[in-house]
Amino acid sequence: MNAKTHNAISTTVMPAGAIREILLGARRILVASHIDPDGDALGTQLAFASYVRHLGKEPLLVRDSEVPHKYRFLHGAESIPRTESLPDDTTIDAAVILECPNIERIGTACRWLKDGLPIVNIDHHRDNAAFGRINWVDSSMSSVGEMVYEYFRADGYRPTADVAEQLYTAILTDTGRFRYSSTSPRTMAVAGELIAAGADPHKICNMVYYNVRPSTMKLIGAVLNTLEFHDHGRICLLTLTKQMLREAGAEESESDGLVDYTLFSEGVLAGALLKELDVARTKVSLRSANGINVSGIAAQFGGGGHYNAAGCTLPLPLERARAEIVRLLTEAGNG
Ligand code: 5GP
Ligand code: MN
Repeated sequence: MNAKTHNAISTTVMPAGAIREILLGARRILVASHIDPDGDALGTQLAFASYVRHLGKEPLLVRDSEVPHKYRFLHGAESIPRTESLPDDTTIDAAVILECPNIERIGTACRWLKDGLPIVNIDHHRDNAAFGRINWVDSSMSSVGEMVYEYFRADGYRPTADVAEQLYTAILTDTGRFRYSSTSPRTMAVAGELIAAGADPHKICNMVYYNVRPSTMKLIGAVLNTLEFHDHGRICLLTLTKQMLREAGAEESESDGLVDYTLFSEGVLAGALLKELDVARTKVSLRSANGINVSGIAAQFGGGGHYNAAGCTLPLPLERARAEIVRLLTEAGNG
């Protein structure tokens, strides 16, 4: 697939007219986000699908992964079909790809992307690969939720209460509850407009953060028990094994957010959650306070993310991955 042959647009300034033109020229539009979806991925995917329907077009929403329990309250979240349940020859006329630094992150829906298909790529990752015909990438944005809201407003689309809830969830989760430095005056203004449009901040925060399953609490307990500090307390690690998931009776997606605990304590500059995938592979979630670019570390293993939050998969068993990550974070912290 080579979208770049078609006069691609890459911009940080919202190309509202060009996006609308592609959508209006299509009939069935794939609306996709990344595998292992977070709140920004799911919230914007669901919200954009409603907008596509409002344009009189047919959105095709798919997922490769389970919808995490904490996001199942979002309207439509439980009815997104699995990509593999649809045929290989599924046809689409355009694709809107949200929150994906590269096209492979959408998962197996990649097989429907024929040469020349118009792709609208909306993202806030600095390392976005500009794989679309339109690439609206703005790393100063807190979330893709904030970008999508601004696009809706520019296009005159007024979100319903369900859409407002989806976008508010996207922004709330991608800013770590309005905590990250990406939270701008504009972010708060957008959140306010979404509340005015029907998003209930109390309900949403409770559903996402204070409605966890007992199995999630057990998993948090087990994972916090693995806490280790390295490099004189500057690095904090947590570990999640398959056995812990089994013993807690938890799904993989219930470990979402656990890595944040690595930065809770005084003096920590960087943290990692090591997740055992199988005997030969370890998924690593990285976090840092200021001064360490963890997306650079993740990129060395084919992963990516943001300066302070990134992830990758190491082709190493858990213990060797741990040693490698401690070495790289120590180097980065003393570099
Ligand atoms: P988390 O640690 O919360 O799963 O992910 C933090 C950030 O890193 C997110 O922006 C996420 O998209 C990105 N990320 C996590 N894992 C991967 C990966 O395997 N590849 C890429 N490219 N990005 C990742
Ligand atoms: Mn995001």
